[in-house]
Amino acid sequence: MSDQSNRKQSIVTRVAQALHFVEAETGAVVPAIQPAATYARDENYEVRKPYWYRRDGSQTTVHAEAIIAELENGAESLLFSSGMSACTAVIEHLPTGAHVVVPKVMYHGVLQQIQNYEKNKRITVSHYTAGNLGELASAVRAGETQLVWVETPNNPNWEVTDIAAAAEIAHEVGAKLIADCTATPPSMTRALELGADISFHSATKYLNGHSDITAGVLSVKETGQFWDDIAMVRKLQGTVLHSQDAWLLIRGMRTLFLRVERSCKNAMAIAMHFEGHPHIEAVLYPGLASDLGHEVAKRQTGGQFGGMMSIIIKGTEQTAIDVTRFCELFYPATSLGGVESLVEHRKTVSGEGFPVHPRLLRLSIGIEEADDLIYDLEQALARACG
Ligand code: PLP
Repeated sequence: MSDQSNRKQSIVTRVAQALHFVEAETGAVVPAIQPAATYARDENYEVRKPYWYRRDGSQTTVHAEAIIAELENGAESLLFSSGMSACTAVIEHLPTGAHVVVPKVMYHGVLQQIQNYEKNKRITVSHYTAGNLGELASAVRAGETQLVWVETPNNPNWEVTDIAAAAEIAHEVGAKLIADCTATPPSMTRALELGADISFHSATKYLNGHSDITAGVLSVKETGQFWDDIAMVRKLQGTVLHSQDAWLLIRGMRTLFLRVERSCKNAMAIAMHFEGHPHIEAVLYPGLASDLGHEVAKRQTGGQFGGMMSIIIKGTEQTAIDVTRFCELFYPATSLGGVESLVEHRKTVSGEGFPVHPRLLRLSIGIEEADDLIYDLEQALARACG
């Protein structure tokens, strides 16, 4: 038998086997769900395990966290009941009056939450144009800024931000960098290795991949007081991921690399097909050589460019909405990162006042046959654009 002790296994192998899970008692290669809300103490009235009440997590949740920590090459990960609750915990742990720098346009839910905290005078906020490092450097304040927020690629225009350069800017003024890389999961972008202090993913998306849970995850390369504070917010707000959902997440992650590779391949084929199309004004996708973020993305996301893109339809806002109505394969639904392809008119979803092009359609490309997806968009465009 070969000696595996000195040989580092690929992360692809580790994730496919949920960290080579084997249940000690039965040999089962699939973990059971631990649904308990409470745990009995031992005969000395001591807690037997790290778990004593569900708001601190369970074996199932911790197993999922261990897989993500390994994927991120991080020290620890914390799972929340949604991406939003994870982001909220990060904002909530900041001291009152903390200065935060965020993109002008980003995932609308996180932006709205940051604006709520600003309105209530909990934090102060400065903005920069996503991807623009010069503007980011001007927005941070030495000794004052506590957190810099990067989303890359950035909803819904998919601007790419250089995480390593942003980390340098943040660290120079004593701030921490959080990177939301939801659109390019840790099989593609390992934000901690690039210099981010906190890596965030809405695990609702690619990590789970099957559109059947909501989840959010934070990972760090170094723990410390700030990490304990964030964990305390999760505990006190009761936003830990449920065991049942953690189990679905573990199952989903086993195929992460395969799913993401296929989505990326499909997305590239679709972007190339529709670039310069007579009914399309622009294709926003970092995989296109013409895209402003292409070179940084090439370095940062391991040679893959993700399954997310947007297209700006020629015509009117109604023409764009009609394209979503006429699609027969693409589901006209929000979210992203599932095995099924989705199309959405982003302005309808983000609400009035959010700066998004009125003719922008966001596409989440799944793992179907690329030709079928291209055909579907072609027929919908032909009907909508007449
Ligand atoms: N960040 C990004 C980039 C997202 O796309 C989303 C959701 O779409 C979130 C955060 C929020 O995650 P969730 O929907 O899991 O709460």
